[in-house]
Amino acid sequence: MNIVINGENRLVDGQVTISGLVELLGMKADRVAVELNLDIVPRDRWMGTNLAEGDRLEIVHFVGGGSGRPRRAGGQPMKKINAWTVLTLLLVSLAWGQGPTRFRPGFNLFSKEQDVQLGQENAAQIRKHMVVVHDPYLTEYVTRVGKRLVSAREAQESGFPFTFEVVADPSINAFALPGGPMFINTGLLRAVDNEAQLAGVMGHEMSHVILRHGTNQASKSKLIELPAVLGSQVAGGSLVGQLTQLGIGLGANSVLLKFSRSAESQADLMGSHLMAEAGYNPTEMARFFQKLDAENGSRAPQFFSDHPNPGNREKAIEEEVQRLPAQQYGNETGQFQRMKLIVSKIREPKPKAPPQ
Ligand code: ZN
Repeated sequence: MNIVINGENRLVDGQVTISGLVELLGMKADRVAVELNLDIVPRDRWMGTNLAEGDRLEIVHFVGGGSGRPRRAGGQPMKKINAWTVLTLLLVSLAWGQGPTRFRPGFNLFSKEQDVQLGQENAAQIRKHMVVVHDPYLTEYVTRVGKRLVSAREAQESGFPFTFEVVADPSINAFALPGGPMFINTGLLRAVDNEAQLAGVMGHEMSHVILRHGTNQASKSKLIELPAVLGSQVAGGSLVGQLTQLGIGLGANSVLLKFSRSAESQADLMGSHLMAEAGYNPTEMARFFQKLDAENGSRAPQFFSDHPNPGNREKAIEEEVQRLPAQQYGNETGQFQRMKLIVSKIREPKPKAPPQ
């Protein structure tokens, strides 16, 4: 759910009350004034109010003694709320609303270095259990598309070292491990109609990495046990063994690779930024998901069991594209047809479950 808090677009997981949010921001309820959708809400009423999609919330925190000056949460001191400040705040939020949606990684007990280590250790396991395709043309092709996406701002800022490999597996899927290693099934390469659709799935996967959704979910699911395990890490020691004991492995329903619907929306929208910056039409991502939906009917492809459809995918992506700078798309490598030809000759083993 998208709400605007003090002028910033925020995606929020599940049902949130205003008092829950105030608590989360570390503020004292009796020192807070709340303005919801331009109405000052009395305290007894906002305590239990649930936030809804599109709500605009301003939280003003009064700090210091009884005569302390009001202070905007995380912002500069504010003398009082009057019509002008409300109007200015509204204009600021509107201006914000026109740019691309901004996302930040959520709560996480892992360091970014631990994301990278975990992903690399898991990738080594994957390479033993799946059939990595060592065709230089194919590897070069997916790496070329991947590197275009990596050149986008949000991928650069994440600093994660992305790598791209093709695995011989007929199911329509791709997955990216924490910290950057991405594996692309031959089944996906067979299913895409153009390079932008491939870039769409890859951009979506990269966004899960950038937003650290895997380790975010792991952190939330093992809140109590994880700090000791992560804290006791010694240089050169393996992370994967200890995490597997906690149930954080790559088995079926792994928290590292199975995402919530709100994580899916975030990955769609950030994926559309990466695509646009790389010159690919972001709408092709939505179109591909829609095609999979339509073709498979009752038997949904593997991709959707790991990446549940958040609903209204195409519309949400279209709206996000409107917030991006206008541009012409169509930046293809020209290698798509040859890639298809090579993939058509690859014999795939029966799909195998990832290692436990
Ligand atoms: Zn996803």
